Amino acid sequence: MPIYQAPLRDYQFILSELLNIYQQTDLKGFDEIDPELTDAILQGVADFTTDIMLPLNASGDLEGCQLEKGKVITPKGFKAAYQQYIDDGWATLTCDPEYGGQGLPEVIGTFATEMKTATNMAFAMYPGLTHGAYSAIHVHGSDKLKQKYLEKLVSGEWTGTMNLTESHAGTDLALLRTKAKPLGDDKFAISGEKIFISSGDHDLAENIIHLVLAKLPDAPDGVKGISLFAVPKFMVNDDGSLGEANTLSATALEHKMGIHGNSTCVMLFDGAVGELVGAPHQGLKAMFTMMNQARLGVGIQGLGVSDIAYQNALVYAKERIQGRALSGVKQADQAADPILVHGDVRRMLLSQKSFNEGTRALMGQQALWLDQAERHTDPVKAKQASALAALFTPIVKGFVTDQGFKACVDAQQIYGGHGYINEWGMEQFVRDIRIAMIYEGTNGVQALDLVGRKLLSDKGATLSLWSDMVKQFIGEHSTNDAMKPYIAGLMDAAGDLEKATGFIAKSAATNPDMIGAASMPYMQLFGISALAWMWARIAATSLKAIEAGTDEQAFYQAKLNTASFYMNYWGCKTRSLRKQVEMSSAEIAAFDEAEF
Ligand SMILES: Cc1cc2nc3c(=O)[nH]c(=O)nc-3n(C[C@H](O)[C@H](O)[C@H](O)COP(=O)(O)OP(=O)(O)OC[C@H]3O[C@@H](n4cnc5c(N)ncnc54)[C@H](O)[C@@H]3O)c2cc1C
Repeated sequence: MPIYQAPLRDYQFILSELLNIYQQTDLKGFDEIDPELTDAILQGVADFTTDIMLPLNASGDLEGCQLEKGKVITPKGFKAAYQQYIDDGWATLTCDPEYGGQGLPEVIGTFATEMKTATNMAFAMYPGLTHGAYSAIHVHGSDKLKQKYLEKLVSGEWTGTMNLTESHAGTDLALLRTKAKPLGDDKFAISGEKIFISSGDHDLAENIIHLVLAKLPDAPDGVKGISLFAVPKFMVNDDGSLGEANTLSATALEHKMGIHGNSTCVMLFDGAVGELVGAPHQGLKAMFTMMNQARLGVGIQGLGVSDIAYQNALVYAKERIQGRALSGVKQADQAADPILVHGDVRRMLLSQKSFNEGTRALMGQQALWLDQAERHTDPVKAKQASALAALFTPIVKGFVTDQGFKACVDAQQIYGGHGYINEWGMEQFVRDIRIAMIYEGTNGVQALDLVGRKLLSDKGATLSLWSDMVKQFIGEHSTNDAMKPYIAGLMDAAGDLEKATGFIAKSAATNPDMIGAASMPYMQLFGISALAWMWARIAATSLKAIEAGTDEQAFYQAKLNTASFYMNYWGCKTRSLRKQVEMSSAEIAAFDEAEF
């Protein structure tokens, strides 16, 4: 079975040294957290995920979910583990205390989520989707809806789902056909079929609250005509007790490449009774306000699975002996050297390590922006943080899951043929994480979102906010000799990003089709630059710790060496990505259909 070591030391480093979360006195509620509390929570999650969730990962994959007499049965052990999960209070971490939550910052919840997705992505999706439903009702629901549903969603006694997709309407939600007919008394009859619904039915909780996108009879055409409804599996009586079954069911389970322990259902709503969440025809807006958080969640899947894959590949690379080092025998007492001596194996491991650690820091930064957006006492700062989180959302979802998948493939590659055989667990990581590039908006759509909505629509104002932060950092550290290699790497990446941005802005006016063609390499270039910013900050923080004197010299020195590798290995990719943006976009856009 794959091993997992929760990266607790890295969490401490990011939270307390890199992001200084204990000094964020302008953020409401941050005065209630301290390192002891954070350590205790993250240690608790580490124990739960390693002891309970990890052992169910391979068995859940093998057994999968079953649909029997209209009911979905999850793999053996999931029900008991879920009960323990809610009994231990892990469902409540970042939820509103008014509904039984612990009110902890997103920046702590994010790392708890990383451990959950690393150890068992399929299991983690049940509470993950529930959190999405909780957030939608919390932000957009009426008081009545909040009273009815939030406490049980927060405790985890009930779970939630998101029902957007239909067989003919995936990316293009304007094509939705599901209908909502007013029944009076604020109730609606929902009719239609949804496909690919994660956690659509299961045996873990006594009720499931489905959030369903549907159209009212007077709905305008297009996405402006979509409304959001809360539709329970079992009706909820006024006293909170469960009533009769609603007219909805899981009619099939999808057979799929990975995440077999999570039930992906075809859902039939046959006049099922639901209530509006938010205003009529504003359903997509309600969904979109949760996107920053939901897409961060999917990005964390990219990081979590990539990290557990790396950890196991590293163990394997130290144990597997094949061939001799090019520079001569390293372990004469053995018939061959461990494969860790080989340059190509080291390259793959370092690529994964530098991606994972840089990304973890970026995820922390993104979560902190989300916290600032919600909790900052200065509304201007809150607005800026919200804009930055929105700008980085396609990066933490699109870039991170693309590269996280590639990192998992590298980890699998280190196992050679054994990586392809399922007993080692590596092929499961590759299969499981593949979906993160597709759902919650495909990565192609993330790239379009970055360029179209985030960059061009505000004429680069939010991008400038971030590039000013980068320039300020460069200014503060450019005279420090020890920082020179990291600052040089960051400047190169930022320079390529600036040029590619200029090219895109110019093309938008002349040939809009080029934007679509350029968006993917642009998103990768942006992502690599964002991690260069994180690695330069990690280097500055590590140098400071070493200069101040530390008994953890090895920890900080490894950070510096990894930062250096990142700048050299990943950093030089920005040049070729910029060239791709500049040189291939027009050709892609103009390519004759008949010649494909
Ligand atoms: C395991 C699994 C779980 C899922 N869970 C859920 C869930 O819980 N709830 C839910 O509602 N849905 C869920 N989905 C659905 C998922 O979100 C959709 O599959 C995804 O949004 C893509 O839609 P589609 O499959 O219809 O592809 P399409 O929209 O048909 O896209 C096909 C291709 O065309 C590209 N494309 C489409 N439009 C554009 C455009 N305008 N510009 C550029 N490229 C474009 C896409 O990037 C993609 O490469 C799940 C799917 C799977 C497989």
